[in-house]
Amino acid sequence: MSGLNENKKKLETYLTRFREHGISNRIAGQDHPGSAGVFESVSPVDKTKICDVARGDATDIDSAAKAASAAFNDWRDLSAKERRRILINIAEAIESRAEEIAVCECWDTGQAWRFMSKAALRGAENFRFFADQVISARDGKHLPSPTLMNITTRSPVGPVGVITPWNTPFMLSTWKIAPALAAGCTVVHKPAELSPLTARLLVEIAEDAGLPPGVLNTVNGYGEEAGKALCEHPLLRAVAFVGESATGKLIIKQGADTLKRVHLELGGKNPVIVFDDADLDRALDAVIFMIYSINGERCTSSSRLLIQDTVRAEFEEKLIERVRKIKVGHPLDPATEVGPLIAQEHFDKVASYFKIAEQDGATIAVGGCVGDNEGFYVEPTLFTDATNAMRISQEEIFGPVLTSIPFFTEQEALDIANDTEYGLTGYLWTNDLTRAMRFSSQLEAGMIWVNSENVRHLPTPFGGVKNSGIGRDGGDWSFEFYMEQKHIGFATGQHKISRLGV
Ligand code: NAD
Repeated sequence: MSGLNENKKKLETYLTRFREHGISNRIAGQDHPGSAGVFESVSPVDKTKICDVARGDATDIDSAAKAASAAFNDWRDLSAKERRRILINIAEAIESRAEEIAVCECWDTGQAWRFMSKAALRGAENFRFFADQVISARDGKHLPSPTLMNITTRSPVGPVGVITPWNTPFMLSTWKIAPALAAGCTVVHKPAELSPLTARLLVEIAEDAGLPPGVLNTVNGYGEEAGKALCEHPLLRAVAFVGESATGKLIIKQGADTLKRVHLELGGKNPVIVFDDADLDRALDAVIFMIYSINGERCTSSSRLLIQDTVRAEFEEKLIERVRKIKVGHPLDPATEVGPLIAQEHFDKVASYFKIAEQDGATIAVGGCVGDNEGFYVEPTLFTDATNAMRISQEEIFGPVLTSIPFFTEQEALDIANDTEYGLTGYLWTNDLTRAMRFSSQLEAGMIWVNSENVRHLPTPFGGVKNSGIGRDGGDWSFEFYMEQKHIGFATGQHKISRLGV
């Protein structure tokens, strides 16, 4: 396994090209400067500039949408076998550059190496999984009626836009782009302005692996500039968006005039509910993993712990002990468990909840301070003695910060769990099977895990309810979004047709 010094040396090698050439937009297989100039990418580890990044605006989005449109027919009509081959090539190329992707991602986002080295490989898995779906992606249904031979066909919706956030940006980008390409769509990708490095690597890898020019285009820039223009562009038939719930609402508004089909993967304030009959040691591991891994900057984090009163003291005591031992440090250090947060604004937001918690009457049982390193570090934090009405229980903090709320009865746990504007995931710990069935059927969430942390299985549907989103990804669900269904009915005989004007 690489050590910190070794990883730092690799970082210097991988960053050289970015420092020398910056990051341009990539349109129709060519580099393009940003029409609005450049912006700086800054590392959250030490707040130093990484490189200049092309600042795209409506002009660049227009060029990219035209490139995606020009490339569409050929990509759509490519044989499934050939499209599959190219996507597999991309998966293999990601695997061979996984270390570079992971190192750049750590430096660009502050995420720890131990997680990003796996996330890079998950990007390859996303391409491989959807490559295997290509062969059946167009398959329709045969739905005969007494008078008609009804069939359905599926075809790609056309060029689409993909807008991604800064948390695990490489993995999330592949999660949206791989199914779009597998469906036969061409793509304009607007990565998050805070983490542009690996989006550049992705488009480069894809082109090197044989993806024709114009099939995947990348335009960097700010959300209200490039992102807005993408949503409004008439040539783009759909927008797949991952980000905050407030931004998701804007995506719908901005896409309204062009009747954009939208897929929204948004925020969460996910409950993990621990009953006293659960395997408490396993529950403890999962609770800690699901909020403190990936800096707590994950949509599926279990940011609200609902703990049954009978085991509360014992569970919280063990939790406090473990949280104190979480290793905060340089993201390229393989021992690091929590790295710095993404940027100043986000750091200020997360840190502001330390005061809010105290003002609202909760206890800061561990953490609650910003780190003394030079980057955007905060201490892994646990709030106890909280109620669900407090802001720390209702708002998505998106950092390594857990709020513990006690409950007495199953009904109370359910009421607390559902008392939120969000509905992405829920985690349930109990050995009572009937209760697990009853509770999960009433829990308002798109995804629920019972006696498990979040384990992603690509054929299953991923997405949220309420303010956590619209639509599902995974398996065939991704194709529901990226493809149009067409019904064609063939008369099987001479059924009676109503005659007018005879
Ligand atoms: P964000 O909404 O601020 O930004 C996401 C992307 O949207 C960025 O590329 C940004 O430039 C762009 N954007 C911003 N304003 C826009 C506009 N007006 N029009 C078009 N695009 C615009 O989110 P973030 O802070 O980058 O990411 C964190 C959020 O993402 C959290 O809320 C998290 O829960 C959510 N998230 C959800 C999932 C999920 O699957 N449900 C996964 C990861 C992250």
